[in-house]
Amino acid sequence: MTSTPELPLFIGGRATPSASQDRFANINPATGEVLAMVHEADKRDVDAAVVAAQAGFREWSALPGMARGRVLLRAAALMRERRDELAETEVRDTGKPISETPFADVDSAIDALEFYGGLAADIKGDHLDLGSTAFAYTRREPLGVCVGIGAWNYPLQIAAWKSAPALATGNAMIFKPSELTPTNAMKLAEIYQQAGLPDGVFNVVHGRSETGHLLASHPGVNKISFTGSVPTGRKVFGDAAAGLKQATLELGGKSPLIIFSDAQLSNAVSAAMNANFYSMGEVCSNGTRVFVHEDLHADFMALLKARTEAMTIGDPMDPTTRVGPLISKAHRDRVLEYVRLGIEEGAYLVTGGEPVNVPGFEDGNFVSPAIFDACQDDMRICKEEIFGPVMSVLTFREEEEVVERANATEFGLAAGVFTQNLTLAHRVVARLQAGSCWINNYNLTPAGVPFGGIRQSGIGRENCRETLDHFTQVKSVYVELGDVECDY
Ligand code: NAD
Repeated sequence: MTSTPELPLFIGGRATPSASQDRFANINPATGEVLAMVHEADKRDVDAAVVAAQAGFREWSALPGMARGRVLLRAAALMRERRDELAETEVRDTGKPISETPFADVDSAIDALEFYGGLAADIKGDHLDLGSTAFAYTRREPLGVCVGIGAWNYPLQIAAWKSAPALATGNAMIFKPSELTPTNAMKLAEIYQQAGLPDGVFNVVHGRSETGHLLASHPGVNKISFTGSVPTGRKVFGDAAAGLKQATLELGGKSPLIIFSDAQLSNAVSAAMNANFYSMGEVCSNGTRVFVHEDLHADFMALLKARTEAMTIGDPMDPTTRVGPLISKAHRDRVLEYVRLGIEEGAYLVTGGEPVNVPGFEDGNFVSPAIFDACQDDMRICKEEIFGPVMSVLTFREEEEVVERANATEFGLAAGVFTQNLTLAHRVVARLQAGSCWINNYNLTPAGVPFGGIRQSGIGRENCRETLDHFTQVKSVYVELGDVECDY
């Protein structure tokens, strides 16, 4: 009989058991199998991680950017060698299909390491000419010990999107993956170490809400980069405020996707499906409010229904599967509750929204992709983030009207516009209140393109050059070349 593996912490370059005996189970959402018993960090472990990170920071921040970049590029190459293993691990932890994870998870993480690895040698300040007897310059300095806290939907991508810019700029990081998907952060730590990262520069601490709070409120931590829900984001921001720490927050959304009457139909349907059913709808930037022009509505719905019902639900390790299980039973129940609520509110359930029994995967949390038509703006299914495969279709007639309705949300993460009229597209995008917008596509996030939200969807941008500013502080230096003027 084989015993369940344990997943320890990674502190100071070593796999480290937690100080307490507390463990929690990491469960495969497709099978219900316990993948590992994960060590839960308490205050003693968090303190140890901060001490290790402070030591790592001293060594790492003293290196030139070029040397730091080289380590990131070596780590990217090692990730590429282990691409299949990392992609399969992500499938087991998240339930997302293997048709997605090599690309959306592993390649996106590799891109981040290569992007920031390439920029590391070019992190620089400014020079200011102050006349013939003085000048000033600025230095972009690292912040110190940064904490990364991740959500469960893109575990490796989030770990890479946070650690790569943090490390490129000379910081050390303590990363806490979601308790539901802890495995690939440990593999990333191994990879960084193998690539030559000094001990203590990237640490992994496992745990749930209390561990996250201990990290965010620790006096030895200088910055928090958080990805997760709005309510947790508020708590993390509160902890950051109490310690006057910098924080960036990547939070939830209820984003609009607007499809005008001249949109190319099959592309618009493809985008709406990607924007709602990719990763079983567990994507923060999803375009879950699909506004379709009245003139296109009937054709759009017919094609959407047919293609949605043809999606293969099943074993996420099967390359033909397009819909895997939701992350947990609790989350599946929450999503099904929203489906029930949508019907109760008077929306028309076109298809899906039911638990699915996959033979051989009886303990899996499968739900068929759901489409609601005849939705109204004030329905809860159109206002609240469901974070599952539930699309709400709304119709509109006028440009002015749809812009106003699209913006009538507390969130502001993303938005999309479909039309062949590029003047219309740019005019509408300029008025949409969202951090990340797409014209004639949806949810693509190539390295270098800023990603992040406004309003309740967050603060700061990831995946881009600007992120380097969020992981550095400016020091200004005035240099006198002449005499010191003094009236005394
Ligand atoms: P969550 O807020 O429940 O948890 C996120 C992380 O915070 C987890 O690691 C959790 O352990 C930790 N945490 C919980 N309580 C904490 C506390 N008090 N202090 C510090 N950390 C704490 O979110 P989730 O369910 O893991 O993820 C889903 C949410 O994440 C959705 O709302 C989704 O929109 C959002 N998300 C946003 C982005 C983005 O880039 N904007 C990306 C992915 C997911």
